[in-house]
Amino acid sequence: MIVVLKRHATQEQVERMARRVEELGLKAHVIVGTERTVIAAIGEKRNGEQQKLESCEEVERVVPILAPYKVASVETKPEPTVVRALDLAVGGGHIGMIAGPCSVEGEEQIMQVARQVKEAGAKGLRGGAFKPRTSPYSFQGLKEKGLELLAAAREETGLAVVTEVMTPGHVEMVARYADVLQIGARNMQNYHLLQAVGEVPRPVLLKRGPSATMDEFLLAAEYILDQGNQQVILCERGIRTFETHTRFTLPLATVPYLKQRTHLPVMVDPSHGTGIASLVPSMCTAAIAAGCDGLLIEVHPDPSKAVSDGAQTITPAVFAQTLEQCRKVAAALGRGEG
Ligand code: PEP
Ligand code: MN
Repeated sequence: MIVVLKRHATQEQVERMARRVEELGLKAHVIVGTERTVIAAIGEKRNGEQQKLESCEEVERVVPILAPYKVASVETKPEPTVVRALDLAVGGGHIGMIAGPCSVEGEEQIMQVARQVKEAGAKGLRGGAFKPRTSPYSFQGLKEKGLELLAAAREETGLAVVTEVMTPGHVEMVARYADVLQIGARNMQNYHLLQAVGEVPRPVLLKRGPSATMDEFLLAAEYILDQGNQQVILCERGIRTFETHTRFTLPLATVPYLKQRTHLPVMVDPSHGTGIASLVPSMCTAAIAAGCDGLLIEVHPDPSKAVSDGAQTITPAVFAQTLEQCRKVAAALGRGEG
């Protein structure tokens, strides 16, 4: 249920109502909007809570949340959420660009690409230190050494570091180095991991599982929000279909669909979404045209030498041209940047 408080409710009244919600055995999420404050009262539906809450003097009305995802729903919070990390802003009119290699491979590689993507206009640096690889014999990442290199690249460039965390036991360590925690597609339904990242003060970039429905995707985000972390970015990265000409099938309808249902920002990863570098620039501009709040793009100083995902990785020069095109599309649609 959404408990809509009266327009001029004081902080004390908000806190009193939140306690009242908890006394009824429900979890209270206080959501401060520009117009008014609401409390999302989440929990198993029983009888009578709605009337009990409605009768409180600070309450204007109580409305049920129809969507299965409660805190993520636009019904709970109509204003878009802006996710911020250093100079990276995603959502609410901000288009955030995150770029970098699939894997952190070494100091020279990550420093070079960080400088190059920064120069082109990226605000976030991606790079896997812990890599979820299909084969156990493939490169698994530089692990903590990779995190140290990412932190050094942030030190020099000011870019926000976005990197994947694969297990609850690593959340604390990865959060010490990263500005945004990435949950990979394979882990979208790893509920303990989602809860663990929900407990740390770091934004989370949640990728869609390749076979997840939209409701499953939003409910995965709900696991993070339910722990109190409101800084969640959704990322479409392609799904598994019968089609084999691309690595995955990239459904851009995800963008407007999600934006109708959630206040959370929506990004697109055209690199994993296509698996083919030459398709990436067009999918970037198409995603911006579809209304996405940012892009996650694999860029390497020399994609032919990349230890992972070279075939879908673009060069810094192509990245710079692509961002230029994206800016034009955004401007044509009256959308800002930055
Ligand atoms: C990645 O971004 O490097 C990655 C592994 O992506 P996904 O989880 O979408 O496969
Ligand atoms: Mn990759």
